Amino acid sequence: MNIILLGPPGSGKGTQARLLVDRYGMVQLSTGDMLRAAKTSGTEMGNRVAEVMARGELVTDEIVIGLIAEQLGDDGGQRLIFDGFPRTLAQADALEALLASKGRPLDAVVELRVDDEALIERIAGRYTCARCGEGYHDTSKPTMAPGICDKCGSTEFDRRADDNPEAVRVRLMAYYRNTSPLIGYYYAKGKLRTVDGLGEIEAIADEIRTALGL
Ligand code: AMP
Repeated sequence: MNIILLGPPGSGKGTQARLLVDRYGMVQLSTGDMLRAAKTSGTEMGNRVAEVMARGELVTDEIVIGLIAEQLGDDGGQRLIFDGFPRTLAQADALEALLASKGRPLDAVVELRVDDEALIERIAGRYTCARCGEGYHDTSKPTMAPGICDKCGSTEFDRRADDNPEAVRVRLMAYYRNTSPLIGYYYAKGKLRTVDGLGEIEAIADEIRTALGL
């Protein structure tokens, strides 16, 4: 089974992808994570994308399609979760062609639907463990002991550079302009499963599991 998690910034794609990885052994392909890794690598591509990401704009189709193509070349037939990709119709077409060339299906597209007010609130308070990547939130999911990761015990945490109000506004705009048309596109293909992305993480995970028949 190969799926796409689709939704605006802050809708919980990364959190839910991690749960699918932990529980079902799926493999998460997050273009955002790949780009953040490239950003710190000091390569030419990393330097080019850093500014675009900091502003909250989309990186070019060519770059992200290239990153996904590389990963698909490597994968050993695992069940894949595309997280944050595709974000444009051109990326959706490229993904379809890439999967077809590997003889692999796209089984479902899970849309996480969350209202805009909630998104801003979620993004403003979120942070992750710098060591294991576990996600937290200042109010809705703080660490059990202050400043210590529940999962790995690390005391180092990261907040994303593009989680500031200005970049969030641009990211939301990019979502509505470029990515939201994919909802209709995948609906027409009979692939769309819409899940209410508001509420408890576990309840949403349950809805996704049911929607995917897992
Ligand atoms: P994310 O972690 O998915 O929120 O992505 C963070 C940032 O990386 C986005 O705001 C974009 O600048 C860039 N990015 C990630 N995935 C894509 C994509 N599929 N297409 C274009 N830009 C992307």
